[in-house]
Amino acid sequence: MKHHFYNAIDYNTQFIACPDCDLLMHKIRPPDDRKSACPRCGRVLLQHCRDSVTRSLALALAGMCLYFPAVLMPLLTFQQLGLHETGNILQTIMKFLDRDYYFVAAAVFFSVVIFPLLKLSLLATVALCLRLRKYPPHLGRLFRIYNHLGEWVMVEVYLLGIVITVIKMLQTVEIDFNIGFFCFTGLVLITMASSLAVCRESFWNLIENKGKSDSLPVQRDTASTSPFANLTAAGNSLAVCSDCDKLSPVLNSMPEGQQRCSRCGAVLHLRKPASIGRTWALIIAAALFLYPANFLPIMRVEFFGIPSHSTILDGIILFFQDGSYVIGLIILTASILVPVFKIVGLAIVLLTIKLNRPRYLRQKTAMFRFIAFIGRWSMLDIFVIALLGFFVNFGFFSSIETAPAATYFCLMVVATMLAALTFDPRIMWDLLSSEKPQDKSAITGETLHGTNS
Ligand SMILES: [Zn+2]
Ligand SMILES: [Zn+2]
Repeated sequence: MKHHFYNAIDYNTQFIACPDCDLLMHKIRPPDDRKSACPRCGRVLLQHCRDSVTRSLALALAGMCLYFPAVLMPLLTFQQLGLHETGNILQTIMKFLDRDYYFVAAAVFFSVVIFPLLKLSLLATVALCLRLRKYPPHLGRLFRIYNHLGEWVMVEVYLLGIVITVIKMLQTVEIDFNIGFFCFTGLVLITMASSLAVCRESFWNLIENKGKSDSLPVQRDTASTSPFANLTAAGNSLAVCSDCDKLSPVLNSMPEGQQRCSRCGAVLHLRKPASIGRTWALIIAAALFLYPANFLPIMRVEFFGIPSHSTILDGIILFFQDGSYVIGLIILTASILVPVFKIVGLAIVLLTIKLNRPRYLRQKTAMFRFIAFIGRWSMLDIFVIALLGFFVNFGFFSSIETAPAATYFCLMVVATMLAALTFDPRIMWDLLSSEKPQDKSAITGETLHGTNS
């Protein structure tokens, strides 16, 4: 009876569940230039987008044109006393390999060279298929991989690293900007613009309905009542796909972890599996790496043959002593404050669940979204060291080398980023639904508010 009922109403075109708090709501198209946000946790759910496919395709193709000169052409030339050093992104990464920093080299190589190309080519492929109205069987899977790559592409962090390197060395050496630098800057801008142009909701609808876009009501008849008994999707045995947000009924006949999303192929779970345990393990690992990352030397600087080791904190103090307060503050924020904030913030949300204290959930969910968003900026210091280590190598004058802290630092960043991925904020909101499970107002009333974008 229950399943017959679910099949009779097409729940995915009529209802939406918030991916952050699992609140189940009627799906209403937001008016032009506006977004609709979850009334409970504030997460943006739907937004109006026009020509998303065409714009994404144009930007992805333009980005691919700039990619190869950006990676292969020389970025900068450092000159001093007749000696000069020039190189491209790949050569700066090779320097890490020469010094046996395999993990650091791999982290930079994937986040700045491999993933950006993969991301742009996946977007170009998916957008081209949608534009030509061709729907090969694995289109959903390709778009799913594209979405997963999002936060592991760190080209804009690398560009900020280049800018900081240039400002740091400007007083000591003469710096020329080469063609690679301008292509790379263009690549960063286009990659960011393409991410903004992609409207996930309409891409997924086009993929699923083979070109027919959903016609959602702009306004809902407020008299119609919700057919659901519970406040959340999970309370009504509906699972939100972690990859494409599609609502699917959980089939009791299927064992947990076997049912897959019909739209994108991701495994369906009511909540992320083993979320609490995994997130605790990752933030404890990150906290342990934090100590060697900050107290072991991260750079070995040699002036006139005399070596000196410096930690991240030494470098920051040096910037402040030189009067470069802005750069000092940026490095301090990215390398120390952000990782500590991520670890403490995730510990707070985990403790909320552990101690069963469902207070300030909206603020804590916003904090969690911020933690997931800022994750990648911590790699800034590693990129600066990669660039300095390559360009500042004038033999008798000064040379800069990477020291062991760099590996711990990369491990720490990766651990905190994975922790943000394994944590499921809906578990925090479940503390509330256990208190008042029958609050129907949230799905029967006008709860999906339009907010100014
Ligand atoms: Zn929500
Ligand atoms: Zn899915």
